[in-house]
Parts: sequence; C-alpha cells; structure tokens
Amino acid sequence: MSARPTIAVVVPCFNEEAVVELFHDRLAGVMLPLGVAWTVIYVNDGSSDRTLRCLEALQAKDVHAALINLSRNFGKEIALTAGLDHVSADAVIVIDADLQDPPELIPSLIAEWRAGYDVVYAQRRTRDGETWLKRKTADGFYRLMQHLGARGIHLPRDTGDFRLLSARALSALLQMREHHRFMKGLFTWIGFPSKGVPYDRARRKGGSSSWTYWQLWNFAVEGITSYTVMPLKAATYLGLLVAMLAVLYGGVLIVRTLLFGNAVPGYPSLMAVVLFLGGAQLVTLGVIGEYLGRVFNETKHRPLYWIETHRPSRLMPHDAGAASWQATGPDVT
Ligand code: UDP
Ligand code: MG
Repeated sequence: MSARPTIAVVVPCFNEEAVVELFHDRLAGVMLPLGVAWTVIYVNDGSSDRTLRCLEALQAKDVHAALINLSRNFGKEIALTAGLDHVSADAVIVIDADLQDPPELIPSLIAEWRAGYDVVYAQRRTRDGETWLKRKTADGFYRLMQHLGARGIHLPRDTGDFRLLSARALSALLQMREHHRFMKGLFTWIGFPSKGVPYDRARRKGGSSSWTYWQLWNFAVEGITSYTVMPLKAATYLGLLVAMLAVLYGGVLIVRTLLFGNAVPGYPSLMAVVLFLGGAQLVTLGVIGEYLGRVFNETKHRPLYWIETHRPSRLMPHDAGAASWQATGPDVT
C-alpha cells in the first residue's frame, strides 16, 4: 500500500436522475478532505430517464468522475461488475446512488481497511423507510441463507452491497464470471479478513426503489440457487420421506383389508395420495428446472455486458484498461 492510496468508488445507476447530483456532491464532500487519490465510476445501467445526461455533465465537470454507459439494462449485479472491471486502485468501494448508503461512512470503511481488513462491509442497524413486510421478508431470507449456506461461509446479516474491497479481494471477485451473480454470496465466498461497520440506513433521497416484490422473490431464488445446492438435496429427502410414508400407509391398508375386509373402496385416500405425490413431484421438478436453467445460461458463455460508451476519469485515465480476460464491447471514448 502506497503512502497516498488510490480509492475507487463504483456506483451503479438505474433511473436515478433525481439523486445523482446530490449523491456526487455528498460523495465529493467526503472524499476530498480524505487526502487520498480517488475516482468514482458511474455505471449507467440502461436508464430510461435523464440519468445518462446528468452523469455526462458530472463527468465533464469533475476530473474524478468516470462514466461507463452500458448498452441496455443488465441489472444491478452486472452493472456493478462492469464498474469493478474498470477499477485499478488500492481499494474499491461499492455504493448505491440513492443515498441509502451514506457516503459519510466511507472514512470508517477505509480506516478498517488500513487496519488490515480486505473486505469491510457496512452493516445496517435500522431499515428506516421500509415497509414491515419488506423488513420481515428480508429478515427471513437472511435467516434461510444462514441455514442453507455451505460450511465455512457465513453470509453476514443486514448487509447490502455497500462495502470496501482491497485490491486482492477485488481481483478474486472478478475472476468469478458467472452470469447468475448473487453478489452478497460472491463477496462472502472469496473469504479474506472481513469486518462489519454498523450504520443506520436512511430513506431513499429521491426516485423510487426499482424492486417489486416479484423481483425480490426472484432475487431470493437467484440467491439460493446460485449459492447452494441444498434445495436439490431437500428434494431428494422429500421424495424419500414420501416414499417411506407411502410404504407405511400401504402396510396399514393391507392389514386393515385382511382384518376387516374391503369395506369401502378408498376414493378419498387414493385422491389424497395421488395429489400429494403429484405435488411433490412437480415441486421437485421445478427445483431441478431452476438449476438446469442456470446451467443452460452459464454454458452459453456470453459476455456479461456490453459497453456503449466509456469515459475514463481525467485524473486516473488508467481505469480505461480493463483486465485482458474480460469480454466487453469496444470502449468508445
Ligand atoms: N440499479 C441498477 N440496475 C438495476 C436496478 C438498480 O444499476 O436494474 C442500481 C440503482 O440505481 C441503485 C442500486 O442499484 O444505485 C440499488 O437499487 P435500489 O435502490 O432500487 O435497490 P434497493 O436499495 O431497494 O435494494
Ligand atoms: Mg435503494
């Protein structure tokens, strides 16, 4: 680590015209007094509003700002990856544009990094401005992931993507090129000394969260199926359990017929068994389908994203050089 470290900040932006300027001002207000060489890479993730124009204006005005404009909306996880691919710094900070992650926490993240931690994640104390249902579902999700997680991997609770990564943690992260990128899982999977820094999560300063409950559900499915094969095992055991119960029930039926004769043809019990087995089979097939779909997507080996335009920051133009193994579109400056 040099005496004057370089810090990069990566910000994915999707329809954030209401907040990007405010965000940049607050970020600059935090970064300038730190006395580090810093750059901020905004990734426009196919916004349909004026976000791109705001970011272009920012980039033209501030020598610290870089802009990557993706060719369409790829989703936050991939937008983030596009930004991270273009980082060359001693440490990188990942932060949302909507000011729910307070830039004022960055000095504490950097302090822990200087103290020797490779991954410093911001850990929410409160979730102000989120509905009861969202809090509860998020809670349940973290708890479920905790139980499903592979041994030795501990997904920290109440953490978003807001965190700092050292250069070696970043290079480890970037070597994972899967399409189904559950970033929280990937951040944790790489390991390295990690530390949480608590903070209070604020309300969005403008715009609206682009997550619907359907998307959150999909995110949870994505998280589980790209993180663990536990549901496949669960399907196996469910099948075994049902089969065992069926054998027991068969025994009961035989004994009952021998003792009491065949009193009433068992239409209700038959229906119950058939429906239950049908349901169990469909669920199991669905689980397998989720994984098969992901295998299908990964085997296509498509590039993760395409860049329409890339404007490196004038202060650190070397962020233009993306790693050689990376597959992206042409950089148009
Ligand atoms: N985002 C993105 N692409 C998307 C959706 C979101 O780059 O398709 C960005 C968004 O601009 C914001 C961050 O990801 O900076 C978090 O999004 P949001 O606030 O909607 O999610 P939440 O805070 O509810 O998790
Ligand atoms: Mg948000």
